[in-house]
This record gives sequence, C-alpha cells and structure tokens, in this order.
Amino acid sequence: MSVAERLAGIRERMAEACARAGRAESEVALLAVSKTVVPELMLEAWAAGQREFGESRQQEAAAKLGLMPAGGVWHFIGRIQRNKVRKILENFTVLHGVDSLKLAAAIDRIAIEMGLRPEVFLEVNLGSEDSKGGFSPQEMDEVIACLPSLPGLEIRGLMAIPPVPDGEAEAARPWFRKLRELRDSLQEKHGFPLPGLSMGMSGDFQVAIEEGSTMVRVGSAIFGERNPI
Ligand SMILES: *Cc1c(COP(=O)(O)O)cnc(C)c1O
Repeated sequence: MSVAERLAGIRERMAEACARAGRAESEVALLAVSKTVVPELMLEAWAAGQREFGESRQQEAAAKLGLMPAGGVWHFIGRIQRNKVRKILENFTVLHGVDSLKLAAAIDRIAIEMGLRPEVFLEVNLGSEDSKGGFSPQEMDEVIACLPSLPGLEIRGLMAIPPVPDGEAEAARPWFRKLRELRDSLQEKHGFPLPGLSMGMSGDFQVAIEEGSTMVRVGSAIFGERNPI
C-alpha cells in the first residue's frame, strides 16, 4: 500500500471515530510522525495533502526539513535537551515533550530572545513510569499556576503516552480518559485554557479520539514499520 493510500485509510478511521463520539472531524488533527522516515516517503505524504510532521531528533529533522517544501508545520515530539532548545526552536513551531518547569522557563527565555512564541504541549507521565518523561499528574496544579509567568510560550494543552503496550487500544482508553479529566479539572480550577490533547498513536488513535484527543500522532501506520535506531 502507498503512503497516500495509508493516509486516506487513517483519515477515514479518524472520521469514523469522530462520528462515534459525536465530534466534528475538524476537531482532530493528524500529525504524521516521520522520525527515521526518508524524505521520499514524506514527500508522498505531502503530495497527499499532509502538512504537519512530527520528528524526535533535532539533527535528523534539520537535515530533512531542507528537502521539504515550505509551508509545513514541524512538531518536535522527542525528549527536549536544554542545550538543544535554540536549535529546536529554529526548526519547530510546536513542542510536545515539555516535561519540567526548568525546561519550560528555558524555552520561554530563548523564544522571547529569538522573537518566537512556540506552541507547547505539557507532557504528563500518567503511569509514573521511570522510562518516560513528563510531569506527574499531582504536580500539574503547581505547573499551571506558573504558566502566566511564561509569556513566551503558547500553551496548547497536555500530551501523554499511556503506560500500556503499543497497540492495546482498549487498555489505553482509561489513560486517555484520565488525561482529558485532568485537563478539564485544571482548566476549571485555574481558568487557564488548555484546549489541546495530544494523544493517540498508530495502534490506538481511534480510541484516543473517542476519549477527546485533538491531535493524534501517527507514524508506522502511515510510513510502515520503523527500523530500530
Ligand atoms: C514514535 C512516536 C509516535 C508514533 O508512533 P507509531 O506507533 O509509529 O504511530 C507518537 N508519539 C511519540 C511521542 C513518538 O515518539
């Protein structure tokens, strides 16, 4: 199957999930996760109308970005190292993995210096896993309270990767729901808008949409299995 055919299939399944949940299709964006993917396949996705791409390594992305047409939206979905923030901000407009206040403050300072205002998803470590980054749900109150002092960041909302094996969509459902409920309660308590929920990947994006996702991050279902790196 071609990238264009796979993309069409995913958009169809996204529409089905929206219909089941009584949501408008326009509420959910598709981020094509192109980490490790060669530019030829990314250009096929581009030709099929895809404009938002997610990458997890700054150097790899910088090399590929120059080969893509202008006008795409580049999302950084990997772990953000503080010494790479400037380079990341040069190439990416949306950051999904912001997982500490120190990092948020560094991005805020550098973005203001560069005259930029990146969009940011705050990563939540729902299952308190050591192997994953993210704020603990308990610390989110304190985090939200600090956001008004970070004017260089456009806070879009919350992001999470559920603590279940990849592809076990129903096992992921309660975790997606948890992220939405956390978002709802933080919004209500602090009056700070958190419109976005970045959740759902190749194996579980339909369930994520049913539970309120506004952006699904889909890689292998579009581009095929990745070679381990
Ligand atoms: C790799 C990755 C994805 C995409 O995973 P697939 O299972 O290939 O869809 C989504 N989100 C993050 C944070 C990733 O690192």
